[in-house]
Amino acid sequence: MMRVLLVEDDDLLGDGVTAGLKQYGYTVDWLKDGLSAEQALKTEVFDAIILDIGLPKKTGLELLESIRNQGNVTPVLILTARETVEDRIKGLDSGADDYLVKPFDLDELCARLRALQRRLSSRATPIIEHAGIKLDPASHTVTFNNEEVNLSRREFALLNKLLENAGRVLSREYLTQTLYGWDDDVDSNALEVHIHNLRKKFGTDLIRTIRGVGYMANESNSNNENK
Ligand code: CA
Repeated sequence: MMRVLLVEDDDLLGDGVTAGLKQYGYTVDWLKDGLSAEQALKTEVFDAIILDIGLPKKTGLELLESIRNQGNVTPVLILTARETVEDRIKGLDSGADDYLVKPFDLDELCARLRALQRRLSSRATPIIEHAGIKLDPASHTVTFNNEEVNLSRREFALLNKLLENAGRVLSREYLTQTLYGWDDDVDSNALEVHIHNLRKKFGTDLIRTIRGVGYMANESNSNNENK
């Protein structure tokens, strides 16, 4: 899990969630009304949306219905007040994947985001295993042939994304958007640098360059097949 869109008009809560998720290694972009979120979702890619229901300009439920109607399947976790059972039901019926009742615990939020991501990639177990690599999104640890490998936050995020989508080509734009929020300055070759580092750590066969398009992790055919 990497890039999260937070849509929340409460400054205090928004600040807290943004800071907290960043500490856990997420890239967080925060918008404060439903309309600007809808605009952003037309052009930007997120791994998950944390969506408050009571929002100015367009409510969370309206936004949710509208993006689902447009075929956007990004996992959505809605935030609701304790007394509004009805909102939660409407939210789930409108295509939300999960909900949390305010106030909530940051650890729980993170655990639910990880669960959403697992469901999306249809993995039953939290640990990703791939060609000698074991990646644990919860503890942020990676081993390669049973030895621990140190990765930067973005290297970890990139490896996670590539392995979850092994066998599928991910475009440069998609990967860059996933790794960097709007606030970050992105070097034009930042992605290449991370790919280079991952190849150094896991071997050159893991990630294929698809010229003019992007990158792909090779599908893991049992243990030691040369590829
Ligand atoms: Ca609100």
